[in-house]
Parts: sequence; structure tokens; C-alpha cells
Amino acid sequence: MHTEERTFIAVKPDGVRRGLIGEILRRFEAKGYKIIGLKMLQVTNEQAAAHYAEHEGKPFYPRLIKYIQSGPIVAIALKGYNVVAGARHMMGATDPDKAEVGTMRADFAQVKEYNIVHGSDSVESAERELAIYFRPEELFEGAKSMSELVVESLDADY
Ligand code: UDP
Ligand code: MG
Repeated sequence: MHTEERTFIAVKPDGVRRGLIGEILRRFEAKGYKIIGLKMLQVTNEQAAAHYAEHEGKPFYPRLIKYIQSGPIVAIALKGYNVVAGARHMMGATDPDKAEVGTMRADFAQVKEYNIVHGSDSVESAERELAIYFRPEELFEGAKSMSELVVESLDADY
């Protein structure tokens, strides 16, 4: 019925600089997604190129590479039911002007070039991006996920 997925989220350098790490983590945790990996890091040239390979050659690509390396990011691995699409829904559209009010980009950003947060756009992208930023042993999946607890407790008889 429900499929558990993993996704890669990044608080981008502008989000870190503006003090939004806690707010972004809070929203995902409140939703019930489980944080299975978390670290602050400076994105290397290799990581930036691998992460944004699909955008190479586009007019905004050089600025995007500079942006993602403009300060530390917070790399987040999340696990949960339908988390790839669900997390993007919570982030809102790429352009904060078009993002629904209540989403992170609508609430905390003004322009699409500096939209504070990244989220993978498919299960395949998620696995590819997780491998760019995390070693397998840096992901902690042993414990029961919050979403399992949420759904199992709702399914349970009282
Ligand atoms: N971006 C930009 N100008 C554009 C489109 C995208 O600066 O016209 C940046 C923006 O930071 C965006 C990132 O490039 O988040 C990746 O673009 P994509 O279309 O994959 O958007 P996302 O998946 O992040 O919503
Ligand atoms: Mg994208």
C-alpha cells in the first residue's frame, strides 16, 4: 500500500547562512520522515558537477555551481513513505514566486536562483545523489522509521 523511499535533501548555502537549518529539519521531522543521515560539508568541485550534471550547458549552470559551493550545505538523508515527492511538495516549486504559500521556498525565499533547499526529483536521482554525499555506513536505517510507527499505530487496534 505504502512504499518507503529514501531521498536526498540539502539546506543550500543561503539556507545555512540565514539560520534555516533547524526550521527545515523541523518541518521534515514533524511530517514524520526519519532523518537517516545528516552532515554539514563544503561541496567539492566533483560533488557539484556530479550533483548538477543534468543542468550542464544551461545558462544558469555556472552560477548554480558557484552558489552550491558558496558556503557549507547541510546534507540530509530522509526515509519515509513516498518521501521523494512528499519532500518536494513541502519544498514547493523551484521559483518561490510560484511555490504554494506554506511551502519552504514560498515562506523563506524570494528568487529561484537562491531557493534555500534542494530535494531529489525521483527515486533514481535520490539514490544517485545520496551516493555523492554519503558513504553507505553514514546512513542509519536500522531503527524503525517514524512513518512506519505512524502508519502502524494508526492501523493498530486499540
Ligand atoms: N536554477 C536557477 N535558475 C533557473 C532554474 C534553476 O538558478 O532558471 C537553480 C535553482 O537553485 C534550482 C537549481 O538550479 O533549485 C536546480 O534546478 P531544477 O530545475 O532542478 O530545480 P529544483 O529541482 O531544485 O526545483
Ligand atoms: Mg532538480
